Amino acid sequence: MKVNMMKVNEIFGPSIQGEGINIGCPSIFLRLSGCNLASCRWCDSKYSWNEGHDLSNSQIREEISRLAEKRSIYHLVITGGEPMMQAKELKKFLKKRPLPWITIETNGHYSLDLLGEYGSVFWSISPKLPSSGCYKPFSDLPTQRFGEILNSQWKFVVSNSDDQVVLWHELQQRFYRNAIIQPCSVEGSLSYRELIEWAKKLWAAGINIRVLPQAHVLAWGQKRGV
Ligand code: SF4
Repeated sequence: MKVNMMKVNEIFGPSIQGEGINIGCPSIFLRLSGCNLASCRWCDSKYSWNEGHDLSNSQIREEISRLAEKRSIYHLVITGGEPMMQAKELKKFLKKRPLPWITIETNGHYSLDLLGEYGSVFWSISPKLPSSGCYKPFSDLPTQRFGEILNSQWKFVVSNSDDQVVLWHELQQRFYRNAIIQPCSVEGSLSYRELIEWAKKLWAAGINIRVLPQAHVLAWGQKRGV
């Protein structure tokens, strides 16, 4: 990778943020290429693992500004793949922001410290559960110590009963701010309604957690770049 360049899979928008507590917010999306896991069974962006081309930080900023121009869009979602694989360049990119409000989506395998001022963006952290095939105990992840930071949300994709057992245990060990259960779009997974019923049991056990669908999947299914 050349200096001041990142490997980009796609830049698109405006569209809605489809996941997490900012569902529905008009946003531009910067999807970076590459993923350190590149094996989650239900990954919906496998095309980002290898596909992509090098763009300079200024080319990326220009494209984002062009897409957002005159449309009152303030929110940029940096996603992947795993964007933190390119943390060094991302840190430089963030010094001159094309939009004022930035969310970074990460799988939790990289310390947020890699970006220096981790407090200046909103973090959407999504540690994987057993159904993904990429589960690691949360205590082994460098992000776990950031569980309580204000500017974060923790998204857990729950597909089956193994995920439920593990997540229940993990949530009893530690508080995660803005914790969210999200259904898995793979056939045979627990439904949104089943997850709401399960969340009632978590609430009864003193665990505060939201249950949110993927809004873009409701609207478009698995279509890419929408
Ligand atoms: S971490 Fe994300 S991008 Fe990487 S394989 Fe898993 S779901 Fe896909």
